Amino acid sequence: MNAIWKPTALQLKKRRRNRQLLSLAVVLVLACLSWVFLGSDSSSPRTVESDQPLQEKVATATEQPSLPVSDHIFKRTIEQGDNLSAIFDDAKINQTILFQILAADESLLALDILRPGNILTFTLDQETRQLEKMELFIHPAHQVVYHRIDENSFDYNDIVLPGTWEPQILSGEIVGSFYQSAIAIGLSEQETGNITYLFKNKVNFSRDIRAGDHFQVVRSLQLVDGKLTGQSHIEAVRIFSRQQHYNAFLFEDGNYYDDRGESLGRAFQRYPFKGHHRVSSPYNLARLHPITKRISPHKGVDFAMSVGTPVYATGDGIVTRVKNHRFAGKYIEIQHEGRYLTRYLHLSRITVKRGQKVQRGERIALSGNTGRSTGPHLHYELHVKGQAVNPLKAKIPMAASIPKEKFEAFQQKTAELTSFMENNDFDLIGS
Ligand SMILES: [Zn+2]
Repeated sequence: MNAIWKPTALQLKKRRRNRQLLSLAVVLVLACLSWVFLGSDSSSPRTVESDQPLQEKVATATEQPSLPVSDHIFKRTIEQGDNLSAIFDDAKINQTILFQILAADESLLALDILRPGNILTFTLDQETRQLEKMELFIHPAHQVVYHRIDENSFDYNDIVLPGTWEPQILSGEIVGSFYQSAIAIGLSEQETGNITYLFKNKVNFSRDIRAGDHFQVVRSLQLVDGKLTGQSHIEAVRIFSRQQHYNAFLFEDGNYYDDRGESLGRAFQRYPFKGHHRVSSPYNLARLHPITKRISPHKGVDFAMSVGTPVYATGDGIVTRVKNHRFAGKYIEIQHEGRYLTRYLHLSRITVKRGQKVQRGERIALSGNTGRSTGPHLHYELHVKGQAVNPLKAKIPMAASIPKEKFEAFQQKTAELTSFMENNDFDLIGS
């Protein structure tokens, strides 16, 4: 049975071509705008995203795209243009099994954003040759293991390691545009886009920022076992223009504030619709699934509403996914300022595109009953720092400033970051 995954000459040729395409894509990524600003709509679900941030290449790149590790384990590194269906065909695993895994993935949607460098490992039962387990390696701090629980279904373990975060300081002088200057000091296109977006209500980057102005960014990089995972986030930004100084500090709630504790982002609204709609299924991590009758987490809130009800973005942000999932139906994901993310599932019509900037209260879709759904409703999710939380109870940036009881902690955090920036920025000290 060793021959089960032996690639044909045609497949080898295709992989070689895919590798060439990947190198081409890397060059394109370098040359293109930030992925968050790419306006392309992804109509085909579960194909590989071409928007891998450069930093994600740190610890995931491997030489061989596809290889049988033994006669019952098969490993496949995702390449540009791959899609799950073809990978399952390659691995000679029935599409029915793929649908069982996608059903398990409905509450996570991790398989909807496969990126080059992600690794899938399939493990078969040695006797029955049935798929027992599929591991998705996203980066060293994040893996998902889908495992068989019976003849017809899979469950998953979402393994997220906290790792440690190492701050680094990046600083520079404006030469040309802020965008060019930020890229020049090593910020990614995504990070640069996020910074300009963060200051969008405060700074006009073409008018207020001039050549010779200085800026500093504190970026934290994640390590697991001493190795970079490729994950990072911005902790603080200071821009010293001739007229004014601008700053942003990330606080524990995932939101950015200036040094006086005023929020840089606008407040969120609690509900993604107008008027009242009954909660038909609350956020519940131990829910009995209404269709499969199995314990499966419900990571959002369902609101009963007739098909065609307008759905609104709950905060300012950028549309990062427009997908059609077999089980989640047509859905949208929006990345907001700070470390917030929202998802809207089972839609009937989507009126925004991937990469589009949206404002709080802007209409983004019409509700529906698409995917695996027991009736017309809107499933709404709110994620803070990568974790789905209860959208009805979570502390969201409703207020415009740091609450009084948190102000001391906030001041301490900003003092630490400021002192880090003053004492470690050799460019600034030297100038
Ligand atoms: Zn739901």
